[in-house]
Amino acid sequence: MPLKNSVAVITGAGSGIGRSVSLKLSEKGMLVVLVDYDKKGGEETLHLVKENGGEGILIQADVSKGSDVERYVSKTIEEFGRIDVFFNNAGVLGIPSLLADYSEETFDRIIAVNLKGSFLGLKYVLKVMEEQQSGVIINTASTAGVQSTPFLGGYSASKHGVVGLTKTAAAEYGPKGIRINAICPGGVVTNMTKDMDMSDPVQNGPLGRPASPDEIANVVCFLVSDEASYMNGSIVTIDGGLTA
Ligand code: NAD
Repeated sequence: MPLKNSVAVITGAGSGIGRSVSLKLSEKGMLVVLVDYDKKGGEETLHLVKENGGEGILIQADVSKGSDVERYVSKTIEEFGRIDVFFNNAGVLGIPSLLADYSEETFDRIIAVNLKGSFLGLKYVLKVMEEQQSGVIINTASTAGVQSTPFLGGYSASKHGVVGLTKTAAAEYGPKGIRINAICPGGVVTNMTKDMDMSDPVQNGPLGRPASPDEIANVVCFLVSDEASYMNGSIVTIDGGLTA
């Protein structure tokens, strides 16, 4: 798949990893559809895309709502006619606490955005890609999706769920010419982690530092490219060796 003039939809495009992926895919000549519920962040990313000579549109949408997901997918088809790449990435962290103190409200919201949002994105985008008989999807899980994450029980459950969705989607849609993989970043310096201590040596693992969003986006660019043509259903850790 040549990336130039193909269409990428990126959720959570208004900040952090989603913004970095939006800029990098746009630099490769892709038309980018930026999805975020934060209008200001989305507009900033769109501005950066255009400043770099790229092309794209912003769709304000909440990934946890089925009607919003249906709308961002149908608007993309109206504007550009197809979806070649889907970066299913929007997510939230929630307030940390031990499970017995973890609020039902926080749990519901984390599951709604991180897990149901990923499911809804897959549901509507896979329908489009199935008709095209092509496409690549990257879901953002986390190291919290493959190991214990004390104080973040709801987040960890949601990301284990994203890993499960990725494997099932890869098994169902691989035969239809669509590749679906997940990334599992460790600590990344973004808005999500701005209130966390990112210097903790245990959290940082062997490389002793958190990642920049660009270090995650570089792997996403590889996964969407033809260089990764045999990768499907892979759960790719990008964590400086943390889970090793
Ligand atoms: P971020 O907070 O910088 O960006 C997340 C973006 O998603 C924001 O622009 C936010 O407005 C948007 N968003 C949140 N909920 C949304 C919703 N319901 N609908 C639409 N947009 C929504 O965080 P980030 O670190 O770039 O996170 C991106 C992804 O990476 C998330 O899925 C996160 O769980 C995952 N991740 C982050 C880290 C880390 O350390 N930062 C580690 C592993 C995985």
